Amino acid sequence: ASVFQNVAQAPEDPILGVTVAFNKDPSPLKLNLGVGAYRTEEGKPLVLNVVRRAEQLLVNDLYRKKEYLPITGLSDFNKLSAKLILGSESPAILENRLATAQCLSGTGSLRVGAEFLTKHYHQRTIYIPVPTWGNHPKIFMMAGLSVKTYRYYDPTTHGLNFKGLLEDLSAAPNGAIVLLHACAHNPTGVDPTQDQWEHIRQLIRSKNLLPFFDSAYQGFASGSLDTDAQSVRMFVADGGDCLVAQSYAKNMGLYGERVGALTIVCKTTDVARKVESQMKLVIRPMYSNPPIHGASIVTTILKDRNMFYEWKLELKAMADRIISMRRQLYDAVSARGTPGTWNHIIKQIGMFTFTGLNSKQVSFMTSEYHIYLTSDGRISMAGLSSDKVPHLADAIHAAVT
Ligand code: PLP
Repeated sequence: ASVFQNVAQAPEDPILGVTVAFNKDPSPLKLNLGVGAYRTEEGKPLVLNVVRRAEQLLVNDLYRKKEYLPITGLSDFNKLSAKLILGSESPAILENRLATAQCLSGTGSLRVGAEFLTKHYHQRTIYIPVPTWGNHPKIFMMAGLSVKTYRYYDPTTHGLNFKGLLEDLSAAPNGAIVLLHACAHNPTGVDPTQDQWEHIRQLIRSKNLLPFFDSAYQGFASGSLDTDAQSVRMFVADGGDCLVAQSYAKNMGLYGERVGALTIVCKTTDVARKVESQMKLVIRPMYSNPPIHGASIVTTILKDRNMFYEWKLELKAMADRIISMRRQLYDAVSARGTPGTWNHIIKQIGMFTFTGLNSKQVSFMTSEYHIYLTSDGRISMAGLSSDKVPHLADAIHAAVT
């Protein structure tokens, strides 16, 4: 008998498992709205033109070698990534009081940040919103943080439970870490307004809570890189400490290249240099150093004025297609007179609509209409196309009537 005889069968990942089930369905009507990846109107994955161009330049660069990167990755990539999220005029950049490390996409950046906090921060409790991306609690628990929650979503309004959020953060112990989605909250598509962000900022600073931003959708929510970074910039502008995990999976379509960055903003240069030295000690025994290809693509694009401009256009086109899907779905549901209010389809932003459909209604849509989505009723708008809207609207209508 194998020494692993007693290993128990693990369940499928709740999000990735949706695709596994989708792939097994032979129906020509099938529609995968589970996966958080952009699809074209034709339902195909998209490699951005600007990414292809950057890759061609890299291939033609005869001097490029497959050497190891430093522990914290490509230094140009780190500078440009910090500038992208914080803004070129950011006081933290001008005053050189930040530490950035290229990490394995958003997930890896969150994990490195969490490991750093476990080792070097006095308060090992992190507050995450309810609901949140399913991987968040696991990432933080695995790193040794204690995970608590704060209220975020109000199912009756399909909007923000602002009062609950403020109450829960007010009751958090001094110094606790707070995870914030920088924009396009996953899975709800509900973000605080500018005024609400300002309230949250004041509360967090007054209680000395430590903000940890997850920025997985910069540019994807509104179509503007700057607009989607406002929340983070507001917290950096006040001069306080904060952490930011960035991902280029969605906004550059580099999912499988695993490109992201962790930035820790500190109050002084001296502290930032020490923090950076300790980040290296966290990373070295985990994976030694990050991969070179994806970060080289990003650096090539961010460095070059024309390529950067071309990227912004392509990013805006992706965001606009998603916004147009929201409008079309909302119109189709309204035209059917489907019971309930559906304004949230157009009000929520980013890749997902948190429909409010329950798990029974979701199973019904899967079994009767071959439509695949997570059991919490989240649909990926990026997986939808104009020709599939009527089928989805029919399914929603049938599920709620
Ligand atoms: N954070 C949020 C909120 C996400 O939705 C995702 C991806 O779905 C990630 C982080 C991390 O993605 P990745 O590790 O592919 O960059």
